[in-house]
Amino acid sequence: MGRERHQDGGERLEDFLGHILVVCPRCGHRAEVIPRGDAIPEAALNPPLFSPRRLICQSCGFTRDWQGHTVRLHGGSGPPRDAYFQCPLYLVDACGGQVLWAYNLDHLSLIERHVRATLRLHQRGNPAGWSNGGLVNRLPRWMILAKNRRRVLAAIARLREKDGLKS
Ligand SMILES: [Zn+2]
Repeated sequence: MGRERHQDGGERLEDFLGHILVVCPRCGHRAEVIPRGDAIPEAALNPPLFSPRRLICQSCGFTRDWQGHTVRLHGGSGPPRDAYFQCPLYLVDACGGQVLWAYNLDHLSLIERHVRATLRLHQRGNPAGWSNGGLVNRLPRWMILAKNRRRVLAAIARLREKDGLKS
């Protein structure tokens, strides 16, 4: 797949699969899905999509390994789950009848930057400012509507706090 880097970063959902925060299937606390430990640190930053993964819970010690051929990106319907173990995501917040979700804090930050930037673009009369096929282009419309902005940013702040309160 061709990766293009534009000013908005051109990030794709796949770019955030190196570190996924999920709800531990055993204890319900925050757990992580990461590349299996034998990966070198640099590779862990941007691991291949299908490289083996491990689910680790710091709270109860639960671990589970994944080595497969099917990676399922969350498409927007149903409860958001991680791409490998299909565990519920940890960074999920009900936001005015919609669901705001992120794989990790970088993903959350990208959403936040886009919500803020979209508002600026609209203010400059350039609503079509985003033209590549990256992730931000496919954010749901409710998320970038000016009238929802405060609610979305509040949900993002709640998720940050939730992650800060982990374990
Ligand atoms: Zn656990």
